[in-house]
Formats: sequence, structure tokens, C-alpha cells
Amino acid sequence: MEQLSLFSQSGGCARPPETVTWNLWHGCTKVSSGCLHCYMFRRDAEIGADSTVVRKTQAFNLPVRVFRSGPYAGEYRIPAGSMVYTCFSSDFFHKDADIWRPEAWEMIRARPDCSFFMITKRPERIEACLPPDWNGGWPHVTVAVTCENQAAAEQRLPVYLSLPLPRAAVMVEPMLSRIDLRPFFREYRDPAGRPVIRQVSVGGESGPEARPCDFDWVLDLHAQCVENGAAFHYHQTGAKLIKDGKEYTIPRSLQHKQARRAHLEFGGGDPA
Ligand code: SF4
Repeated sequence: MEQLSLFSQSGGCARPPETVTWNLWHGCTKVSSGCLHCYMFRRDAEIGADSTVVRKTQAFNLPVRVFRSGPYAGEYRIPAGSMVYTCFSSDFFHKDADIWRPEAWEMIRARPDCSFFMITKRPERIEACLPPDWNGGWPHVTVAVTCENQAAAEQRLPVYLSLPLPRAAVMVEPMLSRIDLRPFFREYRDPAGRPVIRQVSVGGESGPEARPCDFDWVLDLHAQCVENGAAFHYHQTGAKLIKDGKEYTIPRSLQHKQARRAHLEFGGGDPA
């Protein structure tokens, strides 16, 4: 007779969810001015590595790795409920990773108990790279697009906002100009009439050669999001911030803290 198990192998002690970075491949090619000071190129240059060669990493199978022994033997190393941020040293939709992506989708499919978040500057490649059973999108996967300035928004958003994605998230990082998303909020609507863009995240540029971000641009985008019911997150100030016409240099250690102090977080809601 089958034994009734009242307790899990780990003694009923569930592990709390984690925030995980999953860099499954490394290396990229620059596509626009947002890539100019890419930190991945900067770090590779320090060790003489060629950033333009896209290669699979040791972490490739991270989401499906299990503990071999100990109290959690047989369980996934990444706990259920975790947030997995993908591809911070490449682009998930880079053409040189086409050969590995089907396996990556299989691993993502195997972990519906986690949320996966990926950011791309190549929305024109997304549709052809989606898995065959994507349908209207997998609820645990968010594919976000980066638009660092108005030109990038105008080039990428018409493609991105027409894709079969369950939610649209726009990353404005590094923010390099004022960005007017109003036409996109107006034009791209879901069947309920709400703007398709559900989330906007903003940050300035970091690093020794950072280009300045004007706080007025951030405030203007925040107002656009509040008007349209899209969540807004001011992630970090960047190294050079212009406020009230004066440029400030912000040390790396304070860039997130200063952004939080602006109190611009908005969780989204109904359009005003
Ligand atoms: S797309 Fe991202 S990873 Fe690739 S070069 Fe540009 S900033 Fe770097």
C-alpha cells in the first residue's frame, strides 16, 4: 500500500523564495546608443575577454539543478516562488544563442513555480524565437524591452507592443533623453481598453563615462505612467543626475538609495 507522506523530505521546512540572476549565456553585440557603455564589455575588457563571442555559461541549467544530498535532496536549488532575472551579460534573443534557446525554454517551462524576467533590445527577433506552445504567453514569463531614448522607443515599441505577450514592460535604462510614451499608451490597448504597457522602469547610466539623466525626464515619465495606470519604478539615479539645472555626481553606493528617496514608486492602477 502506498505510504501517506505528511511531511516533505526536507522536514516540512519550505525554503523562502529568492531573487536569482540567471546568466545562461554571455557575450553580445552592441545595437544602439544604450549599449555604448555596456558594463559587460567594460568588465570583460578588464580581463582581456572578447565580449562579442556569445558562449553558454556554467550556469546554463541553473533553474533545473537539484540538491544531490542533504535535507533538500532531490529538490530544485532555486526555491519555488523565486524571481529569476535572466541574461544580464547578453541578450536572450541574440541570434548567436539561437541554438541553445529551445533548451532554455524547456527549463523555463519546467519551472512554472518561479517567475522569469528577461530584457531585450531586439524585439524584432522575439516572435520567431518564442516556443511553439507559447500561445498568448506563459503567465510566469515577462519579456521586457529596453528603450533608452525617444528614437529607440519609436523603433522598438511598435514591434514589441504588437507581440503576443501577457504583459508589456518597458525598461528605460540608461535613460538618455526625455521619452514621450503617450502615443504608445494611446494606440496600443488590450481587449478591455487598457493601455498594453503595464510597467515602466527607469534608471540612469552608471560607470566612469556615464551620460547624465535629467530628473525632469524621470518626473515626466512618472506622470505619463500615473495618467495611464502603468506601474512605475525609479530603479537608480545613475552616476550623473541633473536636478533643477545642476549636475550632480552620485557615487555608486548611493544611486539606488537616492532614487528611492524620490518616492516615485507607483504600483499601477486604473488610467486617470
Ligand atoms: S544589448 Fe545589453 S548586453 Fe548587449 S551590448 Fe547592449 S547593453 Fe550590452
